[in-house]
Amino acid sequence: MELIQSQKGKDLLLSDGYRYRKARTNTDGSVSWRCAETPCRGRFKVSLENVVVNVTRHSHAPDPAKNEAKKSVSNMKGEQRTPLRNQGS
Ligand SMILES: [Zn+2]
Repeated sequence: MELIQSQKGKDLLLSDGYRYRKARTNTDGSVSWRCAETPCRGRFKVSLENVVVNVTRHSHAPDPAKNEAKKSVSNMKGEQRTPLRNQGS
């Protein structure tokens, strides 16, 4: 499970070769995601503790290669980049 930003700056969740768009944040702090592929109605729900609480079936096969491509685009744009830390001194 990995969180990235789309080219439009939207949150995207990558998991098991599927891509999800953020649907809503629930009152209990959990977050609902919807599959980014249309017309798939796949859903994904993550609790406040980042535990996956619900995944529905997809109408298509997962596509990990596509997710890797999305990730590299996100990295190129420099979004959500974490600075390298020196290990030790
Ligand atoms: Zn789907």
